[in-house]
Amino acid sequence: MKLTIVMYHYTRDLTHSRYPAIKGLDAELFREQIAFLKEHFTVVTMEEVLDCLEGRYELPEHALLLTFDDGYIDNYTLALPVLEENRLQGSFFIPGKTFAEHKLLDVNKLHYTLAAAEPEILYRELLAKLDYYRGREFDFPSNEELIAQYAVPNRFDTGETIFVKRMLQTVLPERLRKRISSELFAEYVNVSEEQLAYELYMSEEQIRLMKRHGMFIGVHGYDHYWLGNLPDDQMREDIQRALTVMDEFIDRKRWVMNYPYGSYNDGVLKYVGSEGAAAGLITKVAVADLDTCAPLELPRLDCNDFPPKSENYKNISRSEG
Ligand SMILES: [Zn+2]
Repeated sequence: MKLTIVMYHYTRDLTHSRYPAIKGLDAELFREQIAFLKEHFTVVTMEEVLDCLEGRYELPEHALLLTFDDGYIDNYTLALPVLEENRLQGSFFIPGKTFAEHKLLDVNKLHYTLAAAEPEILYRELLAKLDYYRGREFDFPSNEELIAQYAVPNRFDTGETIFVKRMLQTVLPERLRKRISSELFAEYVNVSEEQLAYELYMSEEQIRLMKRHGMFIGVHGYDHYWLGNLPDDQMREDIQRALTVMDEFIDRKRWVMNYPYGSYNDGVLKYVGSEGAAAGLITKVAVADLDTCAPLELPRLDCNDFPPKSENYKNISRSEG
């Protein structure tokens, strides 16, 4: 049984937001896209997918699941009304820290910094900072080595942007990442982190309302870490913290995991499975085949792979045979 899972992040009205350059799907495009998906697919609920994985339900042909990562407030203000209007369910994956502490996730600190400054300028400034910090308190490879390994463009970003992202998301030692991220944020973004966190994420009450309106709420870690790169005890601690603050919204015996950055390993799979995860979402680009896929590793397509953004989804389903 095939299932196309679509992944969304921001669904904001970009032209009116504080940083119009930030990446995301515009509200009007989102509305158009939902109309397209409704016409060409059958949108199913997460509960139906879980029933199917447990062998108690057959998905319709051209089944499609809508997923939203990171708990952004525009999921509530813009996506929810469109979904309700169309009588569709969305599944929302919310990092615990965003509503429990109102702290900015590192990933968003980085998004806002990247949106506020030219990638080439950030790239050069980051290289200078690496030279400054290297050997002082921290040890890491030379700029030449790092560039050769990480400044590699992908289908969305230039080499410079990828380099800045990789360095500040995962490559540098955690304490240094946090320090440089905060320095760059303070330098280029003219708003405090706390203020931005309140503007950016859904509140607990809004999440409650989403659930009451039939939306599915799932787990996306606590601190939005690359779980596959963490030592075992820290990985477990992050997932436990997430499960604790999400308790009201999830079924502890049948919850759904969405690995931040699509990062996981065998240890992560084993742990979330033992804690009651019934399904897991990854970022590998493919149409899921529920008869053959591991339930904790379901691949997804990006919303940019569908009209009105592109027709990529056609090639992706074809290449899957
Ligand atoms: Zn995320």
